[in-house]
Amino acid sequence: MGIIIKSDREIAVMRQAGRIVATILGILSEQVRPGMKTRGLDIIAGRESARLGAKPSFKGYRGFPANLCVSVNDEIVHGIPGERVLNEGDIVSLDFGVIFDGFQGDAAVTVAVGEISPQARQLLETTQAALNAGIAAAYPGARLGDISAAIQNCAESKGYSVIREYTGHGIGREMHEEPRIPNFGQPGTGPVLKKGMTLALEPMVNIGDWHTRLGNDHWVVFTDDGSLSAHFEHTIAITGAEPEVLTIV
Ligand code: MG
Repeated sequence: MGIIIKSDREIAVMRQAGRIVATILGILSEQVRPGMKTRGLDIIAGRESARLGAKPSFKGYRGFPANLCVSVNDEIVHGIPGERVLNEGDIVSLDFGVIFDGFQGDAAVTVAVGEISPQARQLLETTQAALNAGIAAAYPGARLGDISAAIQNCAESKGYSVIREYTGHGIGREMHEEPRIPNFGQPGTGPVLKKGMTLALEPMVNIGDWHTRLGNDHWVVFTDDGSLSAHFEHTIAITGAEPEVLTIV
């Protein structure tokens, strides 16, 4: 099917979807605290989506049972919220998407539960910086590999590793469109970036090595070595000279 180019009108709708995702992630981040169950975050995500007139897009996707993914510490992605209680010092990744007026928004943040270790703090800051580096590389005429390489270089410069099996993706009417966007690669390779492309960039970064292990629920993905992992994601549009982040308030 190839990479789907969006019109200005379609990107305007995606801007609305993105704003809703960012609004809800902001509310969830504020609510994270020691002693709360991860299910509590799922309930808020559902309630706020209804209030803002959007539909959580993960629920039912390939059978995923919740409104958002909540992944704690050595969980990388796709954690199912439930009875787990968050503890002081945990880091928790919140990955959330909605459908609004036929279009998707998708974003993730990793937040601290109370006070966290300096090592965890540096992981969060570096993963956020890796996302920013990827976004900065996403301008018309650049190549997809430039984004991948920028993310990889930022993470590996601190001695961390990037996940290999899970990637960013094109996004639009579907949550996952072409192209796949690995968090590692070579500059100057891959498709040329063009105005109208809408992409979800999402570095997943481990303190240890990049190997992963699937949990018993067949959803949650762990670091194989038990090291901490962080995840940040934005949906962006290539609209002009500068990339535009859609998942902001
Ligand atoms: Mg995504």
